[in-house]
Amino acid sequence: MATKLFDLTGRLALITGSSKGIGYAIAEGLAEAGAEVVLNARNGKELDEARARLAATGCKVHARSFDVTDAAAVGRAIDEIERDIGPIAILFNNAGIQRRGPLVDVKPETWRELMATDLDAVFFVGQAVARKMIPRGKGKIINTCSLTSEVGRPTIAPYTTAKGAVKMLTKSMCVEWAAHGIQTNGIGPGYFKTELNRALFEDPAFTDWVTRRTPAGRWGDVNELKGIALFLASDASSFVNGQVIYVDGGLLASM
Ligand code: NDP
Repeated sequence: MATKLFDLTGRLALITGSSKGIGYAIAEGLAEAGAEVVLNARNGKELDEARARLAATGCKVHARSFDVTDAAAVGRAIDEIERDIGPIAILFNNAGIQRRGPLVDVKPETWRELMATDLDAVFFVGQAVARKMIPRGKGKIINTCSLTSEVGRPTIAPYTTAKGAVKMLTKSMCVEWAAHGIQTNGIGPGYFKTELNRALFEDPAFTDWVTRRTPAGRWGDVNELKGIALFLASDASSFVNGQVIYVDGGLLASM
């Protein structure tokens, strides 16, 4: 049965940055397909509220608060999850931040903060989890990229730089780890209404630009990322390696 390929029953998924927004929707989608999920964020209160909300739907859900930019904390968290909950079958490197401003005004500390979260953390968490997956000979790693992995936009140069690099890190993970039965891929969301984009969707002029610029003529809804997340996390994508799949209402296809 082809639908069986999408069944995640018995698999454990860690989704970083999943107390809200895209990460929470992905966690919910994977849990709805049968996975046991581990939510992550720094803010413990928001994380616990998210855990309770998902648990109330009958899903098996855990929460682990750690900062993905802290390599030592990441290593400890991955060890604890594997020891206390089980082997991580699916990793979603999703935590991310945005810092807006003209490139000529970007401070070195802002540049570093963004790189630490949006790029370094993908390496830290990816490496820590791959070290567990490689001896098992299987695993799924999905990195949240962005349409800005492909194109620039004024006032978000650090973000665009980091997301372009995450696309290449995705390919590097693929070429090194595919032989160990690990499929590494990326998703590239277009414009979705989340906290990260509050300044944009509260600006009528920007919403007007997004709706005119996107062939689908609207913002994305985070629930529209569940399908691609499930595909890349499941056996349905067992020979899909090193791809970034854009979910952007056609924006990248148009000038
Ligand atoms: P949100 O701001 O809604 O959520 C971000 C999540 O990441 C929160 O749970 C936040 O929790 C967590 N987080 C941030 N920093 C850290 C950290 N250092 N350690 C652990 N968790 C952290 O953002 P989105 O849902 O919009 O974004 C999710 C991902 O999707 C990001 O990688 C983003 O770049 C990407 N993306 C988003 C798009 C959009 O349109 N929204 C478009 C393209 C890509 P806490 O602050 O408590 O740590």
